[in-house]
Amino acid sequence: MMSITDVLRRVEEASAEDVTFKHLEQIRKSKFNTFITVAEDQSLERARALDSGELKSGGRLSGVPIAIKDNMSTTGIRTTCASHILDGYIPPYDATVVERLYAEGAIVIGKANMDEFAMGTSTESSYYGPTKNPHNPDCVPGGSSGGSAATVAAGEVAISLGSDTGGSVRCPASFCGVVGLKPTYGAVSRYGLVSYANSLEQIGPIASNVEDVALLYSIIAGHDPKDSTSVEVDTEISIDRDVKGLTIGVPAQYFEGGINPAVESAVWDGIHHLEDEGATYSEVDMPHTDYALAAYYIIAMSEASSNLARFDGMRYGLRTEDKDWSTTFSEVRALGFGEEVKRRIILGTFSLSTGYHDKYYLKALQVRTLVKQDFDLAFKDVDVLIAPTMPMPAFRIGELVDPLSQYLADVNTVPINLAGVPSVSVPCGSTQGLPIGMQIIGRYFDEPGILGVAAAVEHGIGNKI
Ligand code: GLN
Repeated sequence: MMSITDVLRRVEEASAEDVTFKHLEQIRKSKFNTFITVAEDQSLERARALDSGELKSGGRLSGVPIAIKDNMSTTGIRTTCASHILDGYIPPYDATVVERLYAEGAIVIGKANMDEFAMGTSTESSYYGPTKNPHNPDCVPGGSSGGSAATVAAGEVAISLGSDTGGSVRCPASFCGVVGLKPTYGAVSRYGLVSYANSLEQIGPIASNVEDVALLYSIIAGHDPKDSTSVEVDTEISIDRDVKGLTIGVPAQYFEGGINPAVESAVWDGIHHLEDEGATYSEVDMPHTDYALAAYYIIAMSEASSNLARFDGMRYGLRTEDKDWSTTFSEVRALGFGEEVKRRIILGTFSLSTGYHDKYYLKALQVRTLVKQDFDLAFKDVDVLIAPTMPMPAFRIGELVDPLSQYLADVNTVPINLAGVPSVSVPCGSTQGLPIGMQIIGRYFDEPGILGVAAAVEHGIGNKI
């Protein structure tokens, strides 16, 4: 894998154009189906403009190629959300995160593969075919930001962006052996991110190491007038991996229910390593965890059913033969959306409909408040919480075909989105050649704190994997 420093050095030694060209060459040879669209012309053009001085160089990512999940808007570069319904859609504007990356000299090398509309845990629901896990191509890379994590793990790029609604940055980071951060809700602008479930999701950085994730976070975070849910945050992050005096909470509920024994022991190894370094741990009770998964899926599907109403065959992407509005609307959506997306629109519409709204949607919101209270209470006693990111290592492509079994895999990631707290997944071991990730969950806006703990794990354990 590559780091930002490696790439900056190569840009210095050769040129941005040379580095971009070599990245493109490697991406073309990829066996993992990591990209939906490779921005060959646009990336080389930007690299040349940086080399010639037409674009200001010297930014923190000057000449560094980055992969962007295909649900973020990129001017002039096709953005499909891995859906047939957006086939051929070329946005006329950049997401705020993309603008901020460009301002630091980054080069968008392409749009990474993902589950359709970010709905999934394996990247198998992409209309453009599944991404494969670079550690074992018979296995999934996780999802929904599978392309973003796999391309970093395969050494095709140093850095990428994913989005995390219920685990979609942390799950693929865990399955691919890379680092992925789900920021505090509101820390990063969602302007230009195609919404799946907007009250839950954040854009998050993925890289081979904690330091690069921290740098990317400091670039993309902060208030954006175009996203009213975004807030000002401290982006001057210095990572302190000294954990002396740190108090760790280990939530018992995150280790229950059929967790893979190798995952359990790798996460405990990580906790014991931190203990050796001067931290202490205690078990904490998070009693509403058991209800989080059901509440998450009701809320996420309800928001999805409303957010996806805009894909009407009139404004973007796929278009069938012109007929009256309602016929075209139905035809385009029947043809354009995949099975999982349709399932969620139907279930979400059902839970919002008269008579069921109180029973399902409002109930789920009440549970959300209780889940959030679990975190508030826990953080009165401990600085961070540590748990397995996923209950298992990467599963095989085609192994979890029924939707429910994939939903169940999200059991440890979704409570974090319901609460809105930050969480980072960092590699802490492996089993049968497949990586294992642990997540470090923090108080609101304590990205510096959890990244420091992640750096301690990376330093002590990551090097031995
Ligand atoms: N697997 C979860 C879902 O399908 C999370 C997806 C995400 O975070 N985008 O809803």
